[in-house]
Amino acid sequence: MYWVCENCGETVQQDKQPDECWLCGCEMVEADECDGCGEVTFTGRLFGGYCEDCLRESINELTAERYLSERGFLVQFLCNYAWDVADISGGNERFKALCLNEFVNNYRTYHNQVEQFIMDDDGDDGKADYGKWYAKYRSQSRARREKENADG
Ligand SMILES: [Zn+2]
Ligand SMILES: [Zn+2]
Repeated sequence: MYWVCENCGETVQQDKQPDECWLCGCEMVEADECDGCGEVTFTGRLFGGYCEDCLRESINELTAERYLSERGFLVQFLCNYAWDVADISGGNERFKALCLNEFVNNYRTYHNQVEQFIMDDDGDDGKADYGKWYAKYRSQSRARREKENADG
């Protein structure tokens, strides 16, 4: 188990919670390793096992499109950020397909807003939602790769 000092950020690995940080004497609380970069940080600052930096870096055309589509946020994103119109997320399938097309074709234009929409607009709840999705996405890609290797 990992522990991190609330004051200075020092980390230690041991089974039992340390009485105090050996450097500054402050309390040490539960910490964990980020599944992406391996950095040890407060357990509460990991989302789906990933730190905020890793999650921000993971947002690209592919993951953003998958995440927003699968979680049903794509229409809402375009309405809020690109078109500045009221939420019409009840739109039909044809409209959703048009939105997807718009998003994929103009991803570069939207990249910064996408990160804000996913990581900042809903605070830690948004980060947790994306982190959970991303962890699942990663494990699925891994499983697919392993199967391909086994088959090939
Ligand atoms: Zn300390
Ligand atoms: Zn990380």
